[in-house]
Amino acid sequence: MATKGNVGSADEFGNAAFRILNDEHGWPRAGAIFDQSTDGNCDFNLVLSQASEMTSFSPSCSVEYSCRVDNNVIVNDDRWNGGTQQWLAAGGNLARYRTMVINHEVGHRLGHIDNETTCAGEGQLAPLMQEQSMHLDGCKVNEYPLTRSCGSAERRLLPVIFCCFLLFPGLTGSSRQFGETRPAVVTGRNTRRNRLG
Ligand SMILES: [Zn+2]
Repeated sequence: MATKGNVGSADEFGNAAFRILNDEHGWPRAGAIFDQSTDGNCDFNLVLSQASEMTSFSPSCSVEYSCRVDNNVIVNDDRWNGGTQQWLAAGGNLARYRTMVINHEVGHRLGHIDNETTCAGEGQLAPLMQEQSMHLDGCKVNEYPLTRSCGSAERRLLPVIFCCFLLFPGLTGSSRQFGETRPAVVTGRNTRRNRLG
C-alpha cells in the first residue's frame, strides 16, 4: 500500500468509513448495514480523491466538494482534511464533518437527493441531505439522517458492500479492503445521477 504526499492512509480512511457507516445513529437506523469487500465485488466504491482529480469522475463534479457518480462515492481530500468554512463557522468540527460527508454522499448511493428536505427552522438540526457544506440556512450542523429520512427504501439494499480506494496521481486503482468476510451481494440498484456536495 502506497500513498503519495501527506494524504493519510487507506487504512485510516477505510476504517473511519466503516465505523461511520455502521454507527447506530447513521444509515443503520434505516436498515442499511455496510460491509467491506474482500473480493472486489462491490455495490459502490468509496474513494478518497485529491481535489484536482474530482472532475476526472464527471465534469459535473467540482474540485471544491465531494461527489457521487454512479457507483463511485468520491470524498474530496481537501474537504476530508479541512471541512468547509460554512460548516466550521456553524459550530461543527472536522470529525463531525467527516461523518456528515460520508453519510451524505453514501445517502446519494442509497437513492437520496440533495435538499430533499430543507432546514425546518432556525436552530433545528439540518437534514443530512441538505447541502450543509455550502449552506446551513440557520440550522445546526448534523451528520446523521433525521428520523423522517429513515424510511424503508434502503432495506432492499441489505447488506451494502463497499470497496475503498485512494485516488491520487500515480495511485489510480490502488485499493485496500477491510472488514469481515461475508458473501458479496450486488443489488444492481443505481440511480445514475451525479450529485454535488
Ligand atoms: Zn449531495
